[in-house]
Amino acid sequence: MVAAQNVSSDPVRAFFRVLWQGKTYRRMLYLLSSFPLGIFYFTVLITGFSVGISTAIIIIGIPLLVLLVIFWYGFAFFERELAIWWLDVDIPPMAPTVTVRRRWLDRLREHLRNPVTWKSLLFLIAKFPLGIFAFTFVLVALSLSLVFVFEPIIYVLSLAVHQSLSMTEPTYLISLLSGLISVGGTFVLGDFIQTFTLVPVGLIMLLLTFHLINVSGWAWGEFARVTLGMSEVEMRLAEARAMASQERARAQRAEQGRRELIVNVGHELRTPIASIRGHVESLMIATEHGNPPGSEELQSYLHIVNREAERLGSLVDELLTLARSDAGELHLSITIVQPATVADEVYQSLAPLAQRERTITIVQGIPATIPAVYADRERLVQVLLNLVRNAITYTPAGGIVSLSAELPDANHVALVVSDTGMGISPEEQAHIFERFYRTDASRSRSTGGFGLGLAIVRDLVYAMGGSITVSSTSGEGSQFRVILQRAKEVG
Ligand code: ADP
Repeated sequence: MVAAQNVSSDPVRAFFRVLWQGKTYRRMLYLLSSFPLGIFYFTVLITGFSVGISTAIIIIGIPLLVLLVIFWYGFAFFERELAIWWLDVDIPPMAPTVTVRRRWLDRLREHLRNPVTWKSLLFLIAKFPLGIFAFTFVLVALSLSLVFVFEPIIYVLSLAVHQSLSMTEPTYLISLLSGLISVGGTFVLGDFIQTFTLVPVGLIMLLLTFHLINVSGWAWGEFARVTLGMSEVEMRLAEARAMASQERARAQRAEQGRRELIVNVGHELRTPIASIRGHVESLMIATEHGNPPGSEELQSYLHIVNREAERLGSLVDELLTLARSDAGELHLSITIVQPATVADEVYQSLAPLAQRERTITIVQGIPATIPAVYADRERLVQVLLNLVRNAITYTPAGGIVSLSAELPDANHVALVVSDTGMGISPEEQAHIFERFYRTDASRSRSTGGFGLGLAIVRDLVYAMGGSITVSSTSGEGSQFRVILQRAKEVG
């Protein structure tokens, strides 16, 4: 019963609904505004094109044409937004969403190759004649229907104006205001009643006008959708093109990276190899000339050769770790780890040596109460060993290196390695996690690694789902924060 009632009342409701729907008024506004906007686009584009093309020979025209393309894009962009906003139409993007960094000339070429660019020109130019038509239609149809709807009021008003001006004959203005019923200066009941017959006619005309506005708005929206957005096929084509050029750029970068790696590795290998060769050669020459070195000298030479061979070994290990990380083959086993036990292990293995050789005190300040984290235990030990070793290396004798923990938020734990060393300048902080990067201060030292340690630390921390940050003040010390996910408490 209810359903039947709904069916019968729905078409009637739908017919009247246009009167209070915000959509209708937005579409009306769109149609009215398309006239001035259409004239504006037409004037700018046609004038710009004719001046630009006619002066292209004398060069001035070319920047003008480029400027015009920018304006044209701006107009089309604005029109797209306007259509989305006022015509409630869903318009796909004007260009592929894959962003590739390119030179502006390539971007211009790509822009002109995009079919939407040319279709949008059609839209902007067509807006002029269509705008005039839409504007005139809305204005005429609306005023006519409103005159009919308010005919009784207009009749009374015209009479009042008439009498106050003491006119006997209907003037042109008054006959226009009074619509179809002419006002002769005196109230005629028959005429007044007759004006009411026009009210329903006006109402129907008003409703029809509103429906026509809705239909035109819809048609205009469809036109905007087709001309101001990419079609599915165009989008896929353009995205494929953009992805291809992105891949090309990535391949170029990878190739560049590979070349740099070979140069860097070659450079790093050269020093220890030269040192080993130099020492071995001098031993050989001395022995050949029947002048073998004394046991102390031999000991010292062998010590140097051994140290350099160890350096070479650690370089190879670091390179292998990075290669595994690049290939996503680090094979971590993430478990729940107590930071305090890891810090204790790091402390045990480095504190005695640091104290003995560099008089540096290591402070283990991570209590057992610090919440557990998700990490690969062995890798976390490796990360902290690396950071503490760096802290020892770059801190002068008598300094302090400390391990502590912070809780930045409810879901993370930060393990902090601080030192009272030379610090790292802000410019250098931006690079220290890059491969083979060493600060100037560290280059001038004989100790220190190959500039791979922090790159490995960062890769390991990322692989454990964490992050690493550095803060430092030159001359005062540095703090490295390894932020890891806090393990959920069981039970
Ligand atoms: P390296 O193996 O040379 O130590 P890393 O990748 O571990 O390379 O570190 C990169 C650079 O960052 C180092 O060469 C050093 O200049 C700087 N650095 C690292 N840790 C510290 C620190 N705690 N204090 C000062 N400088 C540091």
